[in-house]
Amino acid sequence: MFIGTGRCASDGVCAGPIVELKETIQTPIFDRVFDESKELSLFDSALQRADKELEELYEKTLNNLGQESADIIDMQRMMLQDPDISQAMIDKIKQGVFAKDAIIEVGKQQAAEFAALDDPYMQARSADIKDITLRLYRLASGQDKVVLIKPCVLVSNDLIPSQTLDLDKSMILGILLRQGTMNSHASILARTMDIPLLINANVPNEDLNDRICVIDAHNNKFYLDADDSTIAKVVTSSSYLQEKEHLASFKGKESITKHGRKIKVCANIGSPDDVEGALLNDAEGIGLFRSEFLFLGKTTYPSADEQFAAYASVVRAMNGKEVIIRTLDIGADKKVDYFELPQEQNPALGFRALRICLKREDLFKTQIKAIYRAAAFGNVLMMFPMVTSLWEVQKAKKICKECEKELLEANIDFKVPKIGIMIETPAAAICSDKLAKEVDFFSVGTNDLTQYTLAIDRQNENLDDFYDEHHEAILELLALIAKNAHKNGIWAGICGQLAADLSLTDTFIQMGYDELSVPANTVLKLREKIINSKAIYKDENQ
Ligand code: PEP
Ligand code: MG
Repeated sequence: MFIGTGRCASDGVCAGPIVELKETIQTPIFDRVFDESKELSLFDSALQRADKELEELYEKTLNNLGQESADIIDMQRMMLQDPDISQAMIDKIKQGVFAKDAIIEVGKQQAAEFAALDDPYMQARSADIKDITLRLYRLASGQDKVVLIKPCVLVSNDLIPSQTLDLDKSMILGILLRQGTMNSHASILARTMDIPLLINANVPNEDLNDRICVIDAHNNKFYLDADDSTIAKVVTSSSYLQEKEHLASFKGKESITKHGRKIKVCANIGSPDDVEGALLNDAEGIGLFRSEFLFLGKTTYPSADEQFAAYASVVRAMNGKEVIIRTLDIGADKKVDYFELPQEQNPALGFRALRICLKREDLFKTQIKAIYRAAAFGNVLMMFPMVTSLWEVQKAKKICKECEKELLEANIDFKVPKIGIMIETPAAAICSDKLAKEVDFFSVGTNDLTQYTLAIDRQNENLDDFYDEHHEAILELLALIAKNAHKNGIWAGICGQLAADLSLTDTFIQMGYDELSVPANTVLKLREKIINSKAIYKDENQ
């Protein structure tokens, strides 16, 4: 038995026979005489069949996995229909290249061009180009789809999105990839489908088909040629499965304490890709959508439409459940060159988040309008980070009003979301009574609240021992924030990491917090904790 390692990209445990997906592109074999018109018609028919396949795959994906996964297929269909790509292939054929080889040559070149772009979003499109290239190649060379006829562990170098979606999910027990990244489509889809996946796995390059493999993604391990006792030991005694099974029983349950207090349990996300995890774990909403992901790692500002599409995809996927979009939180550790921000001595105390937005109204307005447009599709709330003073909130709200007017004048569909603020500076916490009169809700960012209250740089590893989120000053501020929210008739939540600290759940309930927003994989654990909690909230304002 060979015990290998990999990196867990989707948690879980499974055992079964291997089916290896070999690279489908073979070395071109010039086995026939070149006939231009034949090759052109072969290409044309491959193009049409590929389009039809993608149309069917779109419907299947939409029904099985929802809009966001289906959108991947839709985008590939658009790429397939892009005349620039198909024309380049046709031109190659006209130069005397066989259709299947023309497809590979152009596809590889296009994929490399996308991969070389600075923008990570565009780079990721390289995988989509490879995907449609392989599909066209397969059709132009008369190959059939991979059909899985038995439940198996898939092994491959890497997977492209439509390969993953084309495969029959009920037949895939787990996946081992020699390559892969945590945020590739394959990893995202594996998480969506709840299929254990190890990436960067050291799978031997030998004939693997039908050999029994156990994947223990929870422990970043796999066992090749596993015997019955290993299977029994790893699979049946996996702490992951036991915990998962136990936690799954909390799906669909209300997060209500023993004394009948309802606490909303939501998930934090950083990108639309994370929604699947939130839904899988039965989050009651998105309590924090860190919108700055759209701005990071790019060379220029995302357009209004690009932002709108990202927000709307989350809102649609959440299907009426709450989605709290936080406006841009750039600055401090989140640096973006094209913002051309000044060098600062103390960036964490510098020009960041709402401060930038209030000085760069054009940028702020573009984001607000994109959020307002997305709000028309569901239950959207918007919140501002890094508030310190009342005037900032008042000014931000004034800008929101202007956006509303401009959208109306432009005859664009939108909905005005509820507006809240993050409480993550001691100033905001102390002034929370006044701030509460201006907004619809509070969400406490305990990561920054701790940093600013304790005067400890949250990025500085050397100060870990001093970064005490349980510090009495933090707990006192937390109590004050909830009290002032309720005094003014608004709700309060916590979306910083402390919300996931189960040793404080009772304390938060006693303080009166209405919502806790945590990483998706903590949602069910937190719900269990709340359901078993005997903590009592007494409203001190009454
Ligand atoms: C926080 O500060 O607690 C928070 C949720 O925001 P971020 O971690 O993104 O700064
Ligand atoms: Mg913060």
